[in-house]
Amino acid sequence: MRNNLTVGSIFGVPIGINYSWFLTLGLITLFLGLQIFPLMLPNEAPAVQWGLSLATAFAFFASVLVHEMAHALVARAFKVPVSGITLFVLGGVAQIEREARSAAAEFTITVVGPLMSFLLAALFFVIWVATGSSDSTGSIVWEWLWLINLAVGVINLAPASPFDGGRLLRSALWGLTGNFQTASRIAGWFGQGLGYALVIIGLASLAQFPGWPIDAGPLLELWLILIGLFIENSARNSYQQVMINDLLASRTAADVMAREYELIESDVSVEQVMEQVFAEDAQSFAFVTENSHVVGLLSRAAARAVADDERPQTTVESIMTPARDVRVVNSDDHLYDVLVSMDEATVSAMPVIEGGKLAGVVSSDQIDRLVNGRS
Ligand SMILES: [Zn+2]
Repeated sequence: MRNNLTVGSIFGVPIGINYSWFLTLGLITLFLGLQIFPLMLPNEAPAVQWGLSLATAFAFFASVLVHEMAHALVARAFKVPVSGITLFVLGGVAQIEREARSAAAEFTITVVGPLMSFLLAALFFVIWVATGSSDSTGSIVWEWLWLINLAVGVINLAPASPFDGGRLLRSALWGLTGNFQTASRIAGWFGQGLGYALVIIGLASLAQFPGWPIDAGPLLELWLILIGLFIENSARNSYQQVMINDLLASRTAADVMAREYELIESDVSVEQVMEQVFAEDAQSFAFVTENSHVVGLLSRAAARAVADDERPQTTVESIMTPARDVRVVNSDDHLYDVLVSMDEATVSAMPVIEGGKLAGVVSSDQIDRLVNGRS
């Protein structure tokens, strides 16, 4: 996720805050400080009411963090890498880098989140009871915290992506059918169906057909429609991502690479290269040879970085990436791994080796075209 502040790490899991999170923190504080605490604690000074509002909002996010931490730590125990936890406008998300290897692992990684929320709700409930289970100053924050954590646990069981319930449903179907793709497809349909159902209920409530039983007010009804659209979209994306990952894991570099590439001699000048090789936009890099051996790689970007008046006397050899520093992929590497390698090396194209010899070039554009069905 972009626009994140990294605020530290817990148990080696980096914690990030998306700027959108401050909006939610502010809204919760405003809601409690304007609407709830003045009514429930009428004898307290506004400073106390606002202080408690802010403390409750922060404690709520600490609870969300603990929920996500449960996912992250259990994922790591199943050897599924976790790149971090991010708090954002809708709560939190643990960035689990790939799918679990088994239905049981996915189920366990997912179920610990809601379980943790229920555990926190129980804990805050006990504290609330111990502090007098009243609406007093010393008790009311605990009341809100057990209610909120209970709500987080229950809402997360909604059987649709992006909620934990969507993954629980998928892993249960995966266990039953033994097929991850089938399970993903059915769970996706289910999520889309749930999304459409919410949109229809929202629209029907807005229209107030005669005899329609729900009237929650236009604001809540609009919100229901938006949530429905969000769930439908998320269910569709989640299924598409499964299909894309599947495609990337089933195809290799050899399936998409270009087998034609430019060779240039190492003693040629940058000026010549710009005129002869990089004149066409399609060519983003070329291999540099010496006595018909590949000795390096030259990118268009590196050539362009040379000032115009220095190009005639600058040789390709002096600005190329030497072969020993060039990262390569094998022609039978899966595209999923190719993308990971490109990402790590922050390049958009890589040479492909086949049987120990240079066979071609694979670029992120080619992979994009495959994924988007244009090749
Ligand atoms: Zn969760």
